[in-house]
Amino acid sequence: MLMDRNWRKHRILVMIGTRPEAIKLAPVVLALRREPGVQLTVCLSGQHPVMARDALASFGIAPDEELALDPGAATAGARFTDLHRAISELLIRLPQDRIVVQGDTSTALAGAMAGFHAGIPVAHVEAGLRTGNLAGPWPEEGYRRMIAPIADLHFAPTDCARQNLLAEGIDPGTVHLTGNTVVDALIAIRAMIAQNSETALRLDTWRQGITGGKPIVLVTLHRRESHGSVLTGVATAIRDLAGEFRDHAFVLPVHPNPAVSGSVRSVLADVPNVCLLDPLGYEDFVFVMSAASLIITDSGGVQEEAPTFGVPILVVRNESERGEAITAGFAQLTGTDPERILAAGRDILKRGAKAELRGKVNPFGDGMAAVRIARLLTARSDATAGIESEAEPIIAATAEPGVDMPRFVQ
Ligand code: UDP
Repeated sequence: MLMDRNWRKHRILVMIGTRPEAIKLAPVVLALRREPGVQLTVCLSGQHPVMARDALASFGIAPDEELALDPGAATAGARFTDLHRAISELLIRLPQDRIVVQGDTSTALAGAMAGFHAGIPVAHVEAGLRTGNLAGPWPEEGYRRMIAPIADLHFAPTDCARQNLLAEGIDPGTVHLTGNTVVDALIAIRAMIAQNSETALRLDTWRQGITGGKPIVLVTLHRRESHGSVLTGVATAIRDLAGEFRDHAFVLPVHPNPAVSGSVRSVLADVPNVCLLDPLGYEDFVFVMSAASLIITDSGGVQEEAPTFGVPILVVRNESERGEAITAGFAQLTGTDPERILAAGRDILKRGAKAELRGKVNPFGDGMAAVRIARLLTARSDATAGIESEAEPIIAATAEPGVDMPRFVQ
């Protein structure tokens, strides 16, 4: 059991700001809860309080702490300063031995900086993603680069991410290839759905209701750098594709940001086979994603999720920090030109490209990332050795994945 010199438990704070952080850290929280020597605090920063709380609830997790932010902090700088203040105050009220942050949000950087100021070691989950362009995605590329020199434990989801960190001079002994915890999250949610016949029936009835049993094209759009005419252009491509494929249902959960919903609704509200929905709970979203014939997205997380279900993806961005999905044949980077998006969507739907992806290897992980991370956080000497054979996943999967999972060897 991991105890410090005074024989008290190792206090670990898991900081969560947004929906993707909640989804990707939920498996880590569940894995850490199994460690008897850990005293865990799960804190919502207040960045996206409702979506993050709902996503955690899908995994049966309730936060221990929720921070109160200044509603008047309107700019990215003001929001960052406010988060840093709130997390620093929390660290005074609830001293910690380690902080865990994920990804590249304001919460992740503010958590890392607050840890740095308080002299508390910082672990970074999903470390090492890079586009090489500080302007895209903004501010995420800058935020994740700034976390790297502060953290003393870097959990790289892929070998490419690991190489990015080593190229920046990060000590190789602190960089661990774990896989992406989003694969663990998907396997857990799929198992939860499969194990609960009421949920499975509810989801199936709901899907029939919104799609009429038609094949599904799932669309998500939210990137800040696309707001305005770029987003309107992408929405126009979706409208035209839906016009060509009337026998498909285009399902689009609309991001609550008014800059997104305004553009999307103005172009797509009246298209008969486009279903504009409120943001979906994670279970519902995973269910639709697993059934989709095609996903069109600018989301980072969705690019990592689709390979678990063997669904082809069009990434409507100019660059991606998840090149592994492209190399492995799951994703195409179309840029934001409506003609290119339309042509690529038409090609995938005509070809029935989903069938071609069966049996391909998922480049993002094997569903054991959170177990590896929990072991590394608790400094277990067997952190990564033999994990495939002896460790239990967070929640055992009951269905075969659509694609093969890679083995992680370190
Ligand atoms: N997601 C969800 N409901 C939705 C849309 C997305 O639960 O209606 C999930 C999705 O599965 C993924 C995450 O939210 O795990 C992605 O969030 P988003 O696209 O907002 O952020 P990004 O990944 O681009 O940072």
